[in-house]
Amino acid sequence: MNKTFEELTPWLDKIYALNCALVLFEWDDATEAPEESSELTSKAVEILSSEYYKAIINDDVKKLLEKLSEEKDLDVKERAIVKDLKKQHESMEPIPAEEYQAYQGLIARASSVWTKAKNASDYSLFAPTLEKIIEYQKKFIDYRLKAGKKEMKPYDLLLNDFEEGFTTKELDTFFDTLKKEIVPLMQMVTDKKDKIDKTYNHRHFPVEKQRQFNRMLAEHVGFDFKRGVIKESAHPFTTNLHNKDVRITTHYFEDNLESAIFSTVHESGHALYEFQISDDLTGTPVGTGTSMGMHESQSRLFENNFGRSREFWIPLFQNLKDTYPETLADIDLDTFILGINKSTPSLIRTEADELTYSLHIMVRYEVEKMIFENKVTIDELPEVWNSKYEEYLGVTPENDAEGILQDIHWAGGSFGYFPSYALGNAIAAQIYAHLKNVMPLDEYLTSGNFAPINAYLKEHVHQYGKTKTTNEILMDMMGESFNPQYYIDYLKDKYTALYKDL
Ligand code: ZN
Repeated sequence: MNKTFEELTPWLDKIYALNCALVLFEWDDATEAPEESSELTSKAVEILSSEYYKAIINDDVKKLLEKLSEEKDLDVKERAIVKDLKKQHESMEPIPAEEYQAYQGLIARASSVWTKAKNASDYSLFAPTLEKIIEYQKKFIDYRLKAGKKEMKPYDLLLNDFEEGFTTKELDTFFDTLKKEIVPLMQMVTDKKDKIDKTYNHRHFPVEKQRQFNRMLAEHVGFDFKRGVIKESAHPFTTNLHNKDVRITTHYFEDNLESAIFSTVHESGHALYEFQISDDLTGTPVGTGTSMGMHESQSRLFENNFGRSREFWIPLFQNLKDTYPETLADIDLDTFILGINKSTPSLIRTEADELTYSLHIMVRYEVEKMIFENKVTIDELPEVWNSKYEEYLGVTPENDAEGILQDIHWAGGSFGYFPSYALGNAIAAQIYAHLKNVMPLDEYLTSGNFAPINAYLKEHVHQYGKTKTTNEILMDMMGESFNPQYYIDYLKDKYTALYKDL
């Protein structure tokens, strides 16, 4: 090991330990913690968070990183860790500590303000807080751009925080293509949506039965219960301490069969990524998925490209019927496949289907871009939001709760995050097309044989953690960087085939 890098290792150990503690608190808060615990527990979390911040942002680490940037003999892992920590330094350091703290306080209060506003469906209750968050964001971007002497659009800096190498230039092209291709496809599909009857999905499915089926389903796609657990939470998510402790949640509704099924498969896709990070990287700052978009591509690959295909359900469907012998007695595989692929334009992103999902993201992308280009005022946001929904999805929110207030992201200061979801869908389609070229994918799915699929993903995507960027992974795997055309082709082929005989 490089001598200077050796001096960094006690700091890395500390960062790792504090991160483990924070992850466990977050997990506990979402799954087990009693309702009244949060006020006192949050004090412990606050202290740990500030220790975590100090373990990364301090003069010792700064000096070591400067020295390490000059070193010539770092290995791939060491170089990636230095790059990652430097990136964090560069984004935090230019921001004056008092302003950062005030901002953190504002964010800590914002989610409860947002919840109240959403429950009352009244944007005016959230608008003043949102305005302050955006003001801080704009100021912080300014500090960062000046410190880095960067000529960059403000919103590009945010986008780049979540997905390195992706700016408004790439995303404008991406979303323009989607607009041109998906909007007309959606119209064709919408005209026929009433021909698909999926009322079966809302019959009664007892939670205990669902637990049993979903556990089997997770195992089927490769979830390893010796290194992972599944619990329940309001909003399904994945978290992990390292590659031998990966945790996912799902959510059961007695009157919705597919909700938990696709949450479980989605989170299992995220979990596989974390299970398959190499032992050499796990527990370091680069021992996790390389980006939000790449992570989401792995969950969507399992949820949609695999999970909504006929091949995927061939070995599973009888098991599903046996789990609910009376409730699903009259439902055959064809009905089920059409049901899980029914597409209807809707108002709520989290309930959107595979075809319309990225249009919800497009609305958010365009609104965020307007915010950071100073082209819209806080008061105009609900109207702009609604008119974009009308234009792209043909539906208009009737109130703020089903419009501008539906997502928690902005209350957490997450701007530039949404596009990762759409990028994830597109990357998933690109990898799916590649898998079909390099292996008998349909055969594997039909026989429920996930071992070779997961081994391939480990070898070409998962093991590298953050030592490669999204585009490097794609390039090395298939000789081509990000290309949204695969996504368009996938959706066109899939929906044309599914809907042609209706
Ligand atoms: Zn996800």
